Amino acid sequence: MTSNNPELPPGDGPLAGRHAVVTGGSRGIGAAIAAELAGLGADLTLMGRNSEALGRQRDTLTANYGTKVFDYQVDVGDADQVANGFQWAANTLGPVDILINNAGISPSAPFHRVDEALWANVMETNLSGAYRCTQAVLPAMLEAGWGRVINIASTAGKIGYRYVTAYCAAKHGLIGLTRSLALEVAQKGVTVNAVCPGFTDTAIVSDSVDEIVAKTGRSEAEALAEITKYNPQGRLVEPTEVAQAVAWLCLPTSGAVTGQSIMVDGGEAMP
Ligand code: NDP
Repeated sequence: MTSNNPELPPGDGPLAGRHAVVTGGSRGIGAAIAAELAGLGADLTLMGRNSEALGRQRDTLTANYGTKVFDYQVDVGDADQVANGFQWAANTLGPVDILINNAGISPSAPFHRVDEALWANVMETNLSGAYRCTQAVLPAMLEAGWGRVINIASTAGKIGYRYVTAYCAAKHGLIGLTRSLALEVAQKGVTVNAVCPGFTDTAIVSDSVDEIVAKTGRSEAEALAEITKYNPQGRLVEPTEVAQAVAWLCLPTSGAVTGQSIMVDGGEAMP
């Protein structure tokens, strides 16, 4: 657990004075979201399992934006770590105004090879993790009468894909959680939305490309084409494109948008 400069005054921007927690904030989409929110003036707590990676991202944000940035090592699959992490975050930067449930994993396997351990790991990280983190912040949001919960789901929360049954089930579940909770808190100033990226240029996709190359002997370009063919724009989504949709949902002017699943996927899924 480390910080940059807790004495910094509040920054400028529409999210100045807001405390945002980004799970999985160390790299990929989470890192892009953290940067986008910092650019809008939010103070940040980054959470993830690898404290060195979190520290690097904290230092990058510190160098580029004038907001307070802290990090705390949390495995969202572990209830005690989540409780401790959010307690520490609230003690350090005050009640959480914005929660980005972004931490996620996407192991692939044909269904007959999806064992109890793989299933449980995906559910714990991608679905129960979001449940736990939201439980930790919601009481303070309701008390404040303002809050933003944004769940990073996926096109896999809307449509099926081969070899990722657990991932699809968890992401469909995350959209269900989003819709139900949005209704429960609709009159309390708290919005709950999902953002659903298509295949996005992060480690998740580069790992898949490596796996296709290893399993099929195809070239890297051919393996990448196997993935981009799903996107009508014929490309990967950029992490910043996902982050900008998230940032828009966090703005004070987006208060009427709740219970939605915003697709950022080049038109891949039109559910
Ligand atoms: P990355 O693998 O690049 O980043 C995942 C982040 O989640 C890392 O910061 C990782 O940090 C963290 N994380 C993973 N497991 C845990 C855990 N148990 N507890 C805390 N943090 C954890 O992936 P992306 O940036 O691509 O993915 C971010 C989200 O976007 C995920 O929910 C993913 O499902 C979703 N998404 C991604 C798409 C894509 O094509 N890239 C498409 C659609 C959705 P650490 O390992 O250090 O814990």
